[in-house]
Amino acid sequence: MRRVLVAGNWKMHKTPSEARVWFRELKRLLPGGGSLLDSEVALLPAFPILPYAREVFGEGPVAYGAQDVSAHREGAYTGEVSARMLKDLGCRYAIVGHSERRRYHHETDTLVREKVLRLLEEGLTPILCVGEPLEVRERGEAVPYTLAQLEAALEGVELAGPERLVVAYEPVWAIGTGKNASPEDAEAMHQEIRQALARRYGEEFAARVRVLYGGSVNPKNFADLLSMPNVDGGLVGGASLELESFLALIKLA
Ligand code: PEP
Repeated sequence: MRRVLVAGNWKMHKTPSEARVWFRELKRLLPGGGSLLDSEVALLPAFPILPYAREVFGEGPVAYGAQDVSAHREGAYTGEVSARMLKDLGCRYAIVGHSERRRYHHETDTLVREKVLRLLEEGLTPILCVGEPLEVRERGEAVPYTLAQLEAALEGVELAGPERLVVAYEPVWAIGTGKNASPEDAEAMHQEIRQALARRYGEEFAARVRVLYGGSVNPKNFADLLSMPNVDGGLVGGASLELESFLALIKLA
């Protein structure tokens, strides 16, 4: 019912020229250039790489998108990139609310919600990141903390369909640390997220929204995470940078 999504968040890695070679190689190595896969593959490189993603993947089966988007539609916002620009480049997705943006760029839930709205206006699908820092988990408050982020980002947000939203549960303590959430802990949080989506959008709708897990996903732990009924794929940082590990993840999906 929900197609597994393997999404690579490249963060600030690879130059456009390096990425172009990598994209061509990935396309060559994927069965049917990606058209024969059961799962969906998406790449989320830095903004200057996106034209090369379009050049190599076009409107084909491998999706691509950005790691962020401006909360503004257009105007005097130096350094910002609008949802309309991303749409023009053929992006299907953009990450919003990644913990690195919340932490290093002080992004608030209100700002994240604006970004969700800008993407939806242009027909792009937000990959909305939520998740708790370690001290919050240790206090036993991981669920209310994560759901509060989700609720705030979706407050008053109408969705044309369940495919118009992807949620990524990314516990902050698991990102880039080599320490992933256990499949059971991930599943428990994903269930909470799906129930929260059901309260907002209805059971049937929520049952079709994909909820990804992110945080030190690698070829060794991905199969166990994916075996959980509410884990619909991964948002992958480090392990998406090498062709070998990324292909291994795609194979497991
Ligand atoms: C991420 O950046 O979204 C992420 C999950 O990174 P990593 O896989 O490296 O932990």
